[in-house]
Amino acid sequence: MLKSLIGKNTIQEYVGKIEEKNKELNAVLRIEKVTGNKDGKYYGIPFLVKDNIQIEGTKLTCGSKILKNYNSVYTATAMKKLLDAGFSVIGKTNMDEFAMGSSNENSAYGPVKNPLDTEKIPGGSSGGSAAAVAAGMAPFAIGTDTGGSVRQPASFCEIVGYKPSYGMISRYGVVAFGSSLDQIGVLSTTVEDAATVVEIMKGKDEKDSTTVEHSTNLTSFFGEDIKGKKIAVPKIIYSEGVDKKILEEFENAVNLLKENGAIVEEIDIPELKYAVSIYYIIAPSEASSNLSRFDGVRYGLRKNEKGLSDLYNKTRDEGFGIEVKRRILMGTYTLSSAYYDAYFSKASKVRKLMSDKINNVLENYDLILTPTSPTLPPKIGEELTPLEYYLMDIFTIPANLVGLPAISVPFNKIGIQFIGKRLKDEEMLAVADAFE
Ligand code: GLN
Repeated sequence: MLKSLIGKNTIQEYVGKIEEKNKELNAVLRIEKVTGNKDGKYYGIPFLVKDNIQIEGTKLTCGSKILKNYNSVYTATAMKKLLDAGFSVIGKTNMDEFAMGSSNENSAYGPVKNPLDTEKIPGGSSGGSAAAVAAGMAPFAIGTDTGGSVRQPASFCEIVGYKPSYGMISRYGVVAFGSSLDQIGVLSTTVEDAATVVEIMKGKDEKDSTTVEHSTNLTSFFGEDIKGKKIAVPKIIYSEGVDKKILEEFENAVNLLKENGAIVEEIDIPELKYAVSIYYIIAPSEASSNLSRFDGVRYGLRKNEKGLSDLYNKTRDEGFGIEVKRRILMGTYTLSSAYYDAYFSKASKVRKLMSDKINNVLENYDLILTPTSPTLPPKIGEELTPLEYYLMDIFTIPANLVGLPAISVPFNKIGIQFIGKRLKDEEMLAVADAFE
């Protein structure tokens, strides 16, 4: 079986697909043409990039009105590596504004439709990238994952979404949301493609001090079987709010792994129940600080009538959407001197406790297994409260809080998530590839 789509079609064929399908799906915000290195191994193969990653000479909006006319003046390290390897950029993809969301309905440029059922959301925030790959507009697309934004849309669009270990890929040139959580990831149709692309992007970068060297090739263990692998299933997945269909298919996946010789055990990680609460303190706190740079002076939109504070107020009021404002307000509150100890500091401590516990579990197990999302994709426009949306990230957030690699693999219309040991992405990928 052909497991890679890379190199299957020409650039023209993919661009043709975008022209044919994008009017309906709204997955691609702009077609771009940035040609890769002609001597590169992958010359002639295109990819799409989420619109929060810098590529010199192209526009970048982050799905926000505040950056409507912003032009990138430099190229993200990871994108430069892909261009050097020969890949060409053919467009930038739609996203939830500043990557805040799980449905792609928070984009200032309209929602994205799920190509598998156009009444449904594709997931988010990298929903444009996921929908585009699922619709055949590119062999792979780049996304970012702060709390699940690569894996959750991958599961809703029934493709592969891989978020590497924190520090594996440089964040230089990625517009920051939650800097201690953000990581570039890949949406593709096979595990092998995702691993191949991350292998090219990874590596230490002096422009991002959180990056680390990782020398093992990410496909090194492909072909090894699942037999004897120890897999932990956290009991929290059986809690309320998890869709029946998801649990049913998850059981089937577990049985398949067992039939192939894996040892699957249920374990209790009580700390996991705090993951969403910790995330929704830490991510908005970091976001409120990161987004203070959009002040009407330095980038994009500028509204000025009556002096400096009016400039800040008007620009940010008109430029940011409702969810971004909500996060900035939450984050400013949790970082304020009166509440810092009660919220940000507390959340950081519980994050550390949870990390220690999960890393401990991974000393005794090779992997942790969960469904990627507790629910199936809702309809576009369905009335969910912010909290219901936040709970959609319950299984994806822990990997970001702990900095672990995680991948969503499609299985009977749902996504199965494998979480691996930190910087041992190659071991996790081999199991995901065998399972695929
Ligand atoms: N859905 C989560 C949020 O809204 C995660 C987003 C992301 O990973 N960028 O914050």
